[in-house]
Amino acid sequence: MRNYQAILLLLAAACAFSIAQNPSSKPASPPSFFALPQMTPAQQENFPPELLEQLHAIKNAVLSDDYAYRQVAHLTENIGPRPSGSPQAKAAVDYVAGELRQLGLDVQLEEVKVPHWVRGAENAELVEYQGQVPGTTQKIVLTALGGSTSTPSDGLTAEVVVVNNFDELKTLGRDKVAGKIVLFNEPFDKQKAAAGLAFAAYGEAVRYRGAGPRAAAEFGAVAALVRSVGNADYRLPHTGFSFPAGIPAGAVTAEDADLTAHLAAEGKVRMHLTLTPQKLPDAISYNVIADLKGSEHPEQIVVVSGHLDSWDLGTGAIDDAAGVAVAMASAEALQKLHLRPKRTLRVIAWMDEESGGAGSQGYKKDHEVEFSRHTAAIECDSGAAHPLGFDVRMSTPAVELLRPVLNVLESFGASAVQPSNYPPGADISVISEAGVPALGILQDGRTYFNYHHTAADTLDKIVPSELRENAAAMAVMGYALASMKNPLPR
Ligand SMILES: [Zn+2]
Repeated sequence: MRNYQAILLLLAAACAFSIAQNPSSKPASPPSFFALPQMTPAQQENFPPELLEQLHAIKNAVLSDDYAYRQVAHLTENIGPRPSGSPQAKAAVDYVAGELRQLGLDVQLEEVKVPHWVRGAENAELVEYQGQVPGTTQKIVLTALGGSTSTPSDGLTAEVVVVNNFDELKTLGRDKVAGKIVLFNEPFDKQKAAAGLAFAAYGEAVRYRGAGPRAAAEFGAVAALVRSVGNADYRLPHTGFSFPAGIPAGAVTAEDADLTAHLAAEGKVRMHLTLTPQKLPDAISYNVIADLKGSEHPEQIVVVSGHLDSWDLGTGAIDDAAGVAVAMASAEALQKLHLRPKRTLRVIAWMDEESGGAGSQGYKKDHEVEFSRHTAAIECDSGAAHPLGFDVRMSTPAVELLRPVLNVLESFGASAVQPSNYPPGADISVISEAGVPALGILQDGRTYFNYHHTAADTLDKIVPSELRENAAAMAVMGYALASMKNPLPR
């Protein structure tokens, strides 16, 4: 709903209410909603006019700066996909560290041990089904899930059982599952995604990607497949993390899940499946931590962040070179404008968000004692589309206090607040769980799951002006949190 519609509706409701209550008297005075906006004393104390001017200056500078886009372009096109443990992930660490040093930040590489899994051959075909034309098969488009084990190099052949949920798997039991390939056919709810609830749709379907293969293995399945978690119609498989199950695990396209389910409803379906990924020894990698030291309270820290690793099918543009780039752009804007925050602004390019979160866990281990001095943390890991505001996990008074900052962002629409009981970012979850106010940039997510974890997550999916808006939201909010008079209340 647009603001003016909300105002009209409220006005209508308020009038109806006052007339109903006071049929013979003149309408009651309008609610304060219609008064000129006034800052509360706490807002005035924390956001004096000079700071508000600086926030406007940061916004205007970032909205006309392509620094973030250049970073995404380099990370995706020059370096490429950056799965944990890969040479590209290592190059990305060195590149981002170098860029942040060039901005004048104090940069540390903090070591973490990450899994190193590499994709192999991946193909499948249905080799037996009702109505099969002799001498032919039906191709199935699929990709291995992260951590999948390998089939024999020439593949395996087994009957496919299709289940729609975990209960159906349990009902089938070991007798009907052992020795077979289980296909979890939970559809991604496209209507939710189209209506702006893409992450709710993702949450419902991704359970099967995460836990399905392990559940199938417990019933003796020889392999597990899931319907891709995403809403595109271009026969693209979506990879992603899956708990180690000890059996080959893959994602088939939505189209091929439908095909297999239809044929399995008619009779026996057998599949020849070849997945030959390899798990290599764990590798050493790094979180990149870069501080722009605070002028008054350098020991207090505000984190701005995104994750540097990506899946390997695409080049990791929207997931999540964009997040790293907008965090870098926050520091770049301040340096360009010669603005020094009161608290330390800490840029973090996280490692290994996609395959287990080793970077986030490593940061907790190394920095937990400082969490009492972390005053806020922001992550951008929901794409690069137009920002609508922030997902927040913080107290209501803290949200209210930030209203003047949201007012600065309203000119380009990034002023909404969506409170959450969950950490609004996977990497900052360890900080959020310690009680630190946490924010995630809330983007228009309607197309995010078209590309998420597919070969189509590439630079062209990023609209430069929308990336600038994300960078402006991160930079303005980051600087506000780092320069408001008092730390944001917990
Ligand atoms: Zn991500």
